[in-house]
Amino acid sequence: MPSHDYDLLIIGAGSGGVRAARVAASHGATVAVAEEYRVGGTCVIRGCVPKKLLIYGAHFAEDLKDARRFGWDVPECDFEWITLRDNVLADVDRLEGLYKSTLDSHQVELIHERATVTGPHSVQLASGRDISARYILIATGAWPIVPEIEGAEHGITSNEVFHLDSCPGRIVIVGGGYIANEFAGIFHQLGSHVTMVNRGTDLLRGYDAQIRDRLLQISIMKGINFRFNAKMEMIEKNTDGTLCVRFESGDPVVADIVLFATGRRPNTDGLGLESAGVVLNKTGAVEVDDYSRTSCESIYAVGDVTDRLQLTPMAIREGHAFADTVFGGNRRKVDYRCVPSAVFSHPPVAGVGLTEAQARNQLGAVKIYASDFRPMKNVLAGRDERALYKMVVDATTDRVVGLHMIGPDAPEILQAAAVAVKAGLAKHDFDDTVALHPSMAEELVLLR
Ligand code: NDP
Repeated sequence: MPSHDYDLLIIGAGSGGVRAARVAASHGATVAVAEEYRVGGTCVIRGCVPKKLLIYGAHFAEDLKDARRFGWDVPECDFEWITLRDNVLADVDRLEGLYKSTLDSHQVELIHERATVTGPHSVQLASGRDISARYILIATGAWPIVPEIEGAEHGITSNEVFHLDSCPGRIVIVGGGYIANEFAGIFHQLGSHVTMVNRGTDLLRGYDAQIRDRLLQISIMKGINFRFNAKMEMIEKNTDGTLCVRFESGDPVVADIVLFATGRRPNTDGLGLESAGVVLNKTGAVEVDDYSRTSCESIYAVGDVTDRLQLTPMAIREGHAFADTVFGGNRRKVDYRCVPSAVFSHPPVAGVGLTEAQARNQLGAVKIYASDFRPMKNVLAGRDERALYKMVVDATTDRVVGLHMIGPDAPEILQAAAVAVKAGLAKHDFDDTVALHPSMAEELVLLR
């Protein structure tokens, strides 16, 4: 056996890389992680965590308004973006510290440099130092895609949005996916005039059509503007610093900020993967087998760089399964069936399993149960926003194959209900469960 500097060298200290490092080290491997930026990856540094904190911050706008209907004498309140921004960024620093101490306490060496693969067992650091490892794990994540239009450089992405100096008076958000809908909700609540620009007619492709329609309807009712089938031509910067977004047809839109939320591309450029014969697919993602192994025997890849399901909990599972397989004597795959997901839009959307359309395509007979209701709190608040819960059932077996929701706390409720869907429970198991009253979640066991 040739000797190497480490058993495992991981490139990228995000969710997948850090989990793999910790677990491999606990199985007795000597591990190093090379990271050119901050520890924590997209989720901690410029994704899930700061985004969720902004959502909490933005929700107060509505809560303060509603509080008056519940008898509170709320004076006119001012909002300070800088306070929210700085508190959020301070929490990101705190979490980064925790991630670093996890690596430290597992004797994982953190190398603060960019690493490039130079062969099946070797990488070179930016400083020129060569390192060898028995295995290499690529966990470099993904990077926002910016459409190639004239003036695109005037726009920002989710990388920059957490660092704005002020809350924009007017913002154009390009895209209709996760990030676009989440930030539309945040900035609308914080008082910005929001225009969402979509190249097609669909928001949130992949989610159930009725739930998506409900989100669109509520978003329009709240005052978010939409441009559908909009082909952007260019972004011009005016002398006063404002931006003018021009389209192939229709009026231009003037804004202070243009946010591109148009998908994320796997981070493989310039990584040197070709030197080890690692095969990439058409989108530049690393191709892997069920055990996250690439076309090179000693190189594995996990997380967004493989573009399987771009979700933090999946990267964590993939990293963990890799470490157990390679270093723990426990060869195991990740299960991609029934993965719950949520969009922290306003109100949030959550789903697990098959949508109605998918079930109708894949199964013989399908039964749909739905509850379209106005949550109690919204009624007293005078807020005309209805929640929608939808259950998709295989009519032949009575098995629940999908649950889809929009409404307050939908992700919190769906996480628990997803256990039942994943376990393959039937509609009658839901019916047999006594309602917890009064709650929104009780609708799930009262569907008729
Ligand atoms: P999404 O894939 O969710 O959405 C991309 C959107 O951009 C779609 O509406 C797409 O339109 C549109 N689009 C793509 N290319 C162009 C283009 N050239 N011009 C105009 N519009 C374009 O990507 P996001 O960037 O929102 O998020 C990236 C990933 O991050 C998500 O896939 C998700 O996995 C993850 N994420 C998860 C979150 C969560 O779990 N809550 C939160 C945030 C991100 P079309 O539909 O026509 O293709």
